[in-house]
Amino acid sequence: MAQQRLRAVVTGGASGIGLATARLLSDGGAAVAVLDLHAGDVPAPLLGIRADVADDESVRAAVRSAVDALGGLDILVNNAGIGAVGTVADNPDDQWRRVLEVNLLGAVRTTRAALPHLRGSRHAAIVNTCSFVALTGVPGRALYAASKGALHALTLAMAADHVTEGIRVNCVNPGTVDTPWVDRLLDRADDPAAERARLRARQPTGRLVTADEVAAAICYLASPAAGSVTGTALAVDGGIHGL
Ligand code: NAD
Repeated sequence: MAQQRLRAVVTGGASGIGLATARLLSDGGAAVAVLDLHAGDVPAPLLGIRADVADDESVRAAVRSAVDALGGLDILVNNAGIGAVGTVADNPDDQWRRVLEVNLLGAVRTTRAALPHLRGSRHAAIVNTCSFVALTGVPGRALYAASKGALHALTLAMAADHVTEGIRVNCVNPGTVDTPWVDRLLDRADDPAAERARLRARQPTGRLVTADEVAAAICYLASPAAGSVTGTALAVDGGIHGL
């Protein structure tokens, strides 16, 4: 019997982990739409749709366009995110709101818009990109850790809420991943080479995680092969949290 082509939406898929995930899903035969601020950067055959996950109307319109173009939806990857440094005292309320708007509420909005369509799928799956920082006391990351910790908790709650509808919900917790995000972080360091060496040494494996490694984990969790996997967090972190 011919297998139905899976249809996927990946937020933040114009760069880094999201782009690697969108490519891997597409290479595996899925039809993939990328929702991103920089949709113009998305290479074919991926379908780039401009969206700001911090804006509800933008998300609803983009999910609608994606579902129309793909003919339905099976997989949602909530991956768009922004960084934040500093302690609780360093970040004023508006900065807290900005990061939570993207990292937490972005996933809430996209999920809300996608759920009616996922209910029509026989292989519905949501995967959220969280972070080892949510589970590990990393100095100077209070706001980012709180945003990703909340997304982690939301993953479990959503898994419980939607399990009887046949919608699985999981997350990945990457370690430090070699993406443009880390390049930007290093650009701001006094000594970028020394900072890169420090980040590498922090991982028990002695190297940064690759975007392809995180993408492989996301694609597994999103695939029918993970049909009995829901409410879990998969660490792809070089052992930084577990060891
Ligand atoms: P990246 O900066 O390379 O890519 C992030 C993408 O998200 C970009 O294409 C950007 O345009 C998009 N984006 C940002 N804000 C958006 C918004 N409001 N609406 C729509 N799109 C938006 O970063 P990355 O390293 O690939 O990170 C992807 C995810 O992985 C993020 O959620 C990040 O928190 C998480 N993560 C990254 C690392 C790491 O070390 N790189 C580690 C753990 C978790």
